[in-house]
Amino acid sequence: MEQLVLAVTEAVKNAGLVQVEVSARHVHLSEQDFEVLFGQGKTLTPKRELSQIGQYLSEERVTLIGPKGEKKNVAVLGPLRKDTQIELSKSDCVMLGINAPVRESGDIKGSAPITIVGPVGTLQLDEGVIIAHKHVHVPEKVAKELGYQDKERVSVELFTERPVIYKDVILRVSDKFRFRMHIDFDEANAAGVSGFTLGKIIK
Ligand SMILES: [Zn+2]
Repeated sequence: MEQLVLAVTEAVKNAGLVQVEVSARHVHLSEQDFEVLFGQGKTLTPKRELSQIGQYLSEERVTLIGPKGEKKNVAVLGPLRKDTQIELSKSDCVMLGINAPVRESGDIKGSAPITIVGPVGTLQLDEGVIIAHKHVHVPEKVAKELGYQDKERVSVELFTERPVIYKDVILRVSDKFRFRMHIDFDEANAAGVSGFTLGKIIK
């Protein structure tokens, strides 16, 4: 059985197919900001591992407040990072009244402001909110085999009930990555993604 799974996984990869995962709205926190929201000496409580190695969903939740509304029960992902970053869909931004830019993870300079409320404290951030640019995490080995470059832009065709070809998808190559495409809920709903979904990378 394991042999069969490996063979199928290999064939899927060689065909330029990648598993599509949908990222719900979430928050990454710096150590300092985490302490403000949850209290000194507290730590994140891992709940479930995510597909990317070392990343996890925590038990902790926060409330996001914008000029037009609020979102309760927003997931905090671990581990803690150098900078606080809030990843929302365009629909979330409209609901909150926030004008966030589409950016790659980590590129938060001049991004949108927001208020975050935790059980212990509140943070008013001047920047940190982005709409994550759709991307594919590519393991180095796969990139070599299939001829993909880090930062390369490709299209990806999603095989769903409402097929869509997404353009301008960023490939990110690292030996720490598992091979996955990440889109947000707006993109997933537009394409009718539900359950296990594959996309084909088109150069
Ligand atoms: Zn990702």
